[in-house]
Amino acid sequence: MPLAIRRFPDSILKERTKSVDEIDTRVRALINRMIDLMRRQPHCVGLAAPQIGSSARIAVMDATGHPKVKESRGLIVLVNPLVEQAEGRVVGREGCLSVPDFTGNVARAARVRVTALDQFRVRFTVTLEGFEAVVAQHEIDHLDGMLFLDRVVSPTDVFRRKTYL
Ligand SMILES: [Zn+2]
Repeated sequence: MPLAIRRFPDSILKERTKSVDEIDTRVRALINRMIDLMRRQPHCVGLAAPQIGSSARIAVMDATGHPKVKESRGLIVLVNPLVEQAEGRVVGREGCLSVPDFTGNVARAARVRVTALDQFRVRFTVTLEGFEAVVAQHEIDHLDGMLFLDRVVSPTDVFRRKTYL
């Protein structure tokens, strides 16, 4: 099954996702495809289900090896995630596979506490800081139909990506 990345302005990226009722083999297969796709994209640290055309409330992230991360928590699977607490503020440049031509400066909480289920139906709570906190907020935004373009700090904080021919 081909998994084309949905790109802005595809309408699925603007839709709120639906909670996952049961983490069955079909849902697990979707999660595995998302992890695989995230790992195959260079510099990709997260992926949300709407980006591959699914309206399930699922995201995956893994910032291992990213220069902005000192100590990564590794792979995090987020099924039905909820941000329970958010503190502080950081502004940073963000990009997205679904918005390949632009980056933008976005303000995010510096620290978030997120509760979710993993792919084995285990409920967990994780506190993330810095870059990983930003990634989690970016991915959870996707699940609420929001893109980083909706959150740039000002209209002049959107930048066309340089292309090298
Ligand atoms: Zn994105």
